[in-house]
Amino acid sequence: MSQLMTALSKNHEVRIYITNTTEVVERARELHDLSPVSCAAFGRVLTGALIMGMMSKIEKEKVTLQIKGDGEIKHIVAVADIHGHVKGYLSNPLAETHVNDLGKLDVGKAIGKNGEVIVLRDWGLTDPFVGRSELVSGEIAEDLAAFFAKSEQMPSAVGLGEQLDPTGFVKHAGGFIVQLLPEASEETITQLEANLNGVDSVTRMFEQGMDIHMIANQLFAGLGLEELEMYDVSYTCDCHEDKMKQALMSIGKSELETIMAEDGQAELICHFCNHKYLFDKAALEEMIATLSKDLIEIEE
Ligand code: ZN
Repeated sequence: MSQLMTALSKNHEVRIYITNTTEVVERARELHDLSPVSCAAFGRVLTGALIMGMMSKIEKEKVTLQIKGDGEIKHIVAVADIHGHVKGYLSNPLAETHVNDLGKLDVGKAIGKNGEVIVLRDWGLTDPFVGRSELVSGEIAEDLAAFFAKSEQMPSAVGLGEQLDPTGFVKHAGGFIVQLLPEASEETITQLEANLNGVDSVTRMFEQGMDIHMIANQLFAGLGLEELEMYDVSYTCDCHEDKMKQALMSIGKSELETIMAEDGQAELICHFCNHKYLFDKAALEEMIATLSKDLIEIEE
């Protein structure tokens, strides 16, 4: 099971969220049949969204993280809750894979450097909070760090990554967000900066056999680590037949009648998990009958 840990420095001046999302990203790769670079980009957004979901204090809040860029992938959406569930979709699952000068999958090129990060926090009662910032590099981690600095006035260091094996399977995926709390001292900031500059990428540390506890300890060297909570995290889609039926009925009676006349059935595919829902003639007739009844009631 993939896990996420939250912790504070001993002096309570710095907070860390760190997660190993190898299974989450591998599940996403399977469900969406991703090319290597699409998998890398999507994996980073899913991991970022998972962490942002865990930052929420409000029980029912959902966080939607969107990345829009002018590269081949164009648009990635990830939705996370505070229970460690994440799901998402992307407009191009099969973006062409290029390798950058460092020999890594070129996520920046696939996302593009012009575009924006959009974050929606929705707790179902009032209008959702919407925060935005411009893309910095399209590499996702830097873009999220800029988002936290600009939109949330929260200085943060973000590390996100994944490593695929030559056949395209996800070998390692994960990331962290480190946040300076308002009372952080100069000494703490200096120590933290030195630590962040000195560490390898998260996936390389996983490759060396380190787990999230060990990595968090290394990132907080000299500051001490106070572990707070540990959560299971997973790629989970909450779609079900009733929800899809409601979506289909929302297009209206005459549209449904057209579908029935032309195709005799309707197939809906969930964007988040690609599960197919088939509604046959009898199901469509029932929906049309329900909508007709509703119309009569409204007229009365
Ligand atoms: Zn689904």
